[in-house]
Amino acid sequence: MTAPAPSTASAAPRNPVDAFIANAAADPSAVAVRGPRRADRVELTRAGLVTAIARAAERFSAAGLAAGDRIVLIAPTCPEFLAEFFGAQALGIAVVAVNPLSTQRELDFFITDSGARLVLAHPAVAEAGRASASTTGTRFETIEPLAGDPEPVSDPADFAPLPRDPGDLAALLYTSGTTGRPKGAMITVGNLLAVAEVGRQISGMGPEDRSGTALPLFHVFGLASVATVSLTSGVPLTLLPRFDARELYDTIIDDRLTVVAGVPTMWNAILRVESDRVPTTLRLALSGGASIAVELMRQFETRFEAQIADGYGLTETSAFGTFNPWNGRIVPGSVGVPVPQLEVRVVGPDGADCAVDEVGEVYLRGTMVMAGYWNNPEATAAAFDEHGFFRTGDLGRLDADGYLSIVDRIKDLIIHGGYNVYPREVEEVLYEHPKVLEAAVIGSPDEHYGQTVTAVIAPMPGQTLTEAEVEAFCREQLAAYKIPRIIRFVDALPKGPTGKIRKRDITP
Ligand code: AMP
Repeated sequence: MTAPAPSTASAAPRNPVDAFIANAAADPSAVAVRGPRRADRVELTRAGLVTAIARAAERFSAAGLAAGDRIVLIAPTCPEFLAEFFGAQALGIAVVAVNPLSTQRELDFFITDSGARLVLAHPAVAEAGRASASTTGTRFETIEPLAGDPEPVSDPADFAPLPRDPGDLAALLYTSGTTGRPKGAMITVGNLLAVAEVGRQISGMGPEDRSGTALPLFHVFGLASVATVSLTSGVPLTLLPRFDARELYDTIIDDRLTVVAGVPTMWNAILRVESDRVPTTLRLALSGGASIAVELMRQFETRFEAQIADGYGLTETSAFGTFNPWNGRIVPGSVGVPVPQLEVRVVGPDGADCAVDEVGEVYLRGTMVMAGYWNNPEATAAAFDEHGFFRTGDLGRLDADGYLSIVDRIKDLIIHGGYNVYPREVEEVLYEHPKVLEAAVIGSPDEHYGQTVTAVIAPMPGQTLTEAEVEAFCREQLAAYKIPRIIRFVDALPKGPTGKIRKRDITP
């Protein structure tokens, strides 16, 4: 089967950039986006951002690019990324946003698989892209860094982005999975428009807000849920090129941020920042990308006097899925209820819906779900069921009120002597230990049990922790078969580009 075309609330041709123009018309000199706090801080007004987008679109056009083409964009989290990304959107060009740390081999694949006609790189991360463009015979350009608003700033009303159909391709976001070649999730214009609308609804972002993040923009969390939602809502957005807990902490204070987005490892790190200064403006921390321990949420809310909300989603669903809390009700340990325009099902191995509280695979369907995998009909067919629901590969359960809990990734499940051990449950317990900074639980091959539970722990700085202490702590709270048999201590756990702990980089 082919993937269903994403349906959208309104099928009228539109462009995500339209909202930027409307915001700029309302208040051209309001700040739209800015870089880190430095003497030479880059800051773009709304009218300046529209001008930068228009300039990018003109350059693409002058380079012979047109609607339907694809370009590879390699850039850190900075205002230029967004000017180029939305410049391409204005013209109907799809952006293949890739990790600047990609190797040349990976880039070669992204360029050839996507059929990109241009590789565009920020000068700070241009090397591999330049080499890859040359091997693949693709045009290469570097982005000219912005010092602020382009001169002269043009009238936003003079710029008319191309009206686009909801099904048109906006971005290709490659997701790797653990096996096989990376697959390009096709994010459509309709997906981005739905993200803008639903993101605003669930975060309540409005004119009083100021948002910030250090998430990568090539990942859907930063690109869709943070940047697209903030900019279309007219919320000034502070971008940090890399995560540094103290830098983000001080930025929250100095930029008076009200909404900050990140992954659980970031919240954990920011909680450890020692400072005499207290952030007073923060109202909402958007957490996602990985499960967040209940204990961590509690500590965060106590220290920052702000709500920390957990959102669950995937690249393939434009980062959206479920959100906790919704309508003021929060269920700790759950990822909440489906966001507007998305439906969730929990499905058993027989393809039927699971009963309340029964564990099965989470399926999602709605306006934010991708159109399919680029150039990969087999993977697309395998990813959707016959009703157009996307199979997430996550195990979860729904409670009687429709709140979803993510139990684990199907592939992370540990089977110890025939018993299912969900690593996340063990990690939750480990995070409650006061000397544990970070923990990951994985399965190690075991002759007798098939797999055995291994805990890899980074202790709090300056603390010593013993295997016996960890074991005794787990024994109080977990059934015997769930207690880690192997306990290893490390200084830090391996992390992916968003800062998520990357289990596949831990030796079993
Ligand atoms: P990615 O495609 O890189 O965004 O990764 C998506 C995966 O991250 C999902 O399939 C989940 O396994 C995991 N994930 C994302 N958000 C959450 C969350 N709030 N709680 C638990 N797991 C999450």
